[in-house]
Amino acid sequence: MTGYWWSERIGPGFAHSYQVELLYEERTPYQHLFVFKTPLWGRALVLDGVVQLTLADEYIYHEMMVHVPFLGRKRPVRSALIIGGADGGTLREVLSHDSIERVVMVELDKQVLTACQKYMPEVCQCWDDPRLELIIGDGAKYVEDAASRGEQFDSILLDSTDPVGPAICLFERPFHENIAKCLTDDGVVVRQSGLPRTMPKVMPFVMKRFEDVMPRVEVYRAPVAAYGDEMAFVIATKDGESCALPNSNLVGRYYNPECHKAAFSLPTWWQRLIDEYVDDGTVPIETVDCF
Ligand code: SAM
Repeated sequence: MTGYWWSERIGPGFAHSYQVELLYEERTPYQHLFVFKTPLWGRALVLDGVVQLTLADEYIYHEMMVHVPFLGRKRPVRSALIIGGADGGTLREVLSHDSIERVVMVELDKQVLTACQKYMPEVCQCWDDPRLELIIGDGAKYVEDAASRGEQFDSILLDSTDPVGPAICLFERPFHENIAKCLTDDGVVVRQSGLPRTMPKVMPFVMKRFEDVMPRVEVYRAPVAAYGDEMAFVIATKDGESCALPNSNLVGRYYNPECHKAAFSLPTWWQRLIDEYVDDGTVPIETVDCF
């Protein structure tokens, strides 16, 4: 390990510093990509200065991203649309469900996908699964086209970057309208909605956009260690049913039925962020930088 240190700016006057060995760097057409090796977290993928995942804790995020919507539904989930998710962790967990017959994954940046397959192959070994259709393209354009041809999914998993750069279109109103059209009558959508600690407007904003088009919107949380605080997931169902209770006894590395139930209990300060949010429709673009 070299003595080189890299910092992620988390918020004003606050950063996480990692001792790193640089394994790969590229300026893709969409973002600035690093793959680092770190002593505590293992390999880490960084896009535009923001840690996307580390090998040491990615299972927490990916299990909670997938098992909560899948097992919170009474009917087995047969189809999934993943938007983003280049590392393959969400895909891995989706394909671990025997009920899944079809997965479409739409990732904008082929270079991120290639870098993850080369430098983090252990995250996903399902790239050749016959149930998968992998599309390189913009997720907003895909759902617009899918909505107009009447294509629908039982589940949509929004595993994109935060509302910066190429992901901004995934936070706009037309995208949510198309998401609702692309869900089956009892379909479910989930989105990683940032850390309320450092992005206090993102979670309530995402809730509002789903409330515009879906009858039931809930929030749950997961402690993804390398992000530094609990992450919010916003989940919405088209039939108005709650996802808060598990319909299975699945036990993962992080996920289990008790964690599923507990994840829906919100701390008072999160509830206040939701109750006090003033929605003017503007995407809460966060400024992040790398130094
Ligand atoms: N775990 C994550 C996090 O912490 O934010 C997400 C990881 S995954 C690597 C995020 C992916 O979203 C990136 O690979 C990025 O290229 C992709 N993405 C961003 N905007 C997109 C868009 N408009 N359509 C499809 N994929 C997009």
